Amino acid sequence: MPADVLPLSIKRDGDAFRIEWSDGVAASVPFLTLRNNCPCATCNDERTKPADPFRVLSAREVSAGLPVPVAMKAVGHYAYQITWNDGHDAGIFTLDALRRLGQPATPPRT
Ligand SMILES: [Zn+2]
Repeated sequence: MPADVLPLSIKRDGDAFRIEWSDGVAASVPFLTLRNNCPCATCNDERTKPADPFRVLSAREVSAGLPVPVAMKAVGHYAYQITWNDGHDAGIFTLDALRRLGQPATPPRT
C-alpha cells in the first residue's frame, strides 16, 4: 500500500469496521479477523502455541462472547490502538495491517 493512502473514515458496520481509504477502496474488516490478528506479544504468543484440545474458556472469554472493539485511538499517523470489550488493549494495528485484513468492497480508483 502506498504510504500516502490513509483511512478517510472508519465506521462500525455490524460485526465489522467499514474503512474508506483515500485511494477509493472501501473495505470491511470483521472484528473477529482483527482480534485473531492482534499484533501484541501476548496474542502472538498464543498463536504460536499448539492448540490445547482441553483448554477451557476463561470466565472472561465466556462472558465477553464475540470480540467487539469499544474504543479506537490513533497512534501517531500510522496506527490505531483498539480496546476490546474484554479489556484487551495491547494491540496496535498499523494502517498496513488494517488494509491487509480488509475485504475490499470496491476496487481502487484508477
Ligand atoms: Zn493482543
